[in-house]
Amino acid sequence: MTILFISDLHLDSERPAGIEQFLSFIAQEASQADALYILGDLFEVWIGDDSTELSNAPIIEALANLELKGVPCYFMHGNRDFLIGKRFAAATGCKLLEEYEVVEIGGTRVLLTHGDLLCTDDKPYMELRKKLRNPSWQKDFLSKTLDERKTIAANIREYSQQAIAEKPQEIMDVNQDSVAKTMAQYGVNLLLHGHTHRPGIHHFDLDGTNATRIVLGDWYEQGSVVRWNTEGYQLENIT
Ligand code: MN
Repeated sequence: MTILFISDLHLDSERPAGIEQFLSFIAQEASQADALYILGDLFEVWIGDDSTELSNAPIIEALANLELKGVPCYFMHGNRDFLIGKRFAAATGCKLLEEYEVVEIGGTRVLLTHGDLLCTDDKPYMELRKKLRNPSWQKDFLSKTLDERKTIAANIREYSQQAIAEKPQEIMDVNQDSVAKTMAQYGVNLLLHGHTHRPGIHHFDLDGTNATRIVLGDWYEQGSVVRWNTEGYQLENIT
């Protein structure tokens, strides 16, 4: 048994090397696995399933091929690709997950999430998130032309980058109280997420029991993956 977890690939036509790395990961390692979980921000930006961006085609094809090989793929929205919808799911065969999902692997209950929901110290981001996740905002956005959407997405990105540059680093990490509360709510001792681009494995006490938080890294300089097999899990880089 091997279950793979990845996140924060931020695939973008302007970074073809990243796309190549993802395609070879899918064709080689993921094709041999028993399941693949993508925990958000597969794409740098996603303006709708009707996007005509040419660089998306091989990515969608690779995921569809994975499904044909009998490897189930699960996708969870990130803060960049939260508009991925049913059409993408149908084209790739990926099953769309909710923002929190508990899966059981080798007898262990694992809570999966992208990670941004746990960054509760970042109040302006949480406000922006609320707006962008509102169904009526999304309906209005998706009714615009692709060019209009590209412009709006670029503006949001610029606003975010400016805001990020002005924020202290610790504000943009997860809030430990939010982590503990959420893990207790779902009844898990293990949490796996991405988003912060701070890969690591953190052990801590959760109401008197040992708890673990695994953080996937981004794919800017190299890939990052959690491989879970019969011996347990490992967080590793892919070069
Ligand atoms: Mn993210």
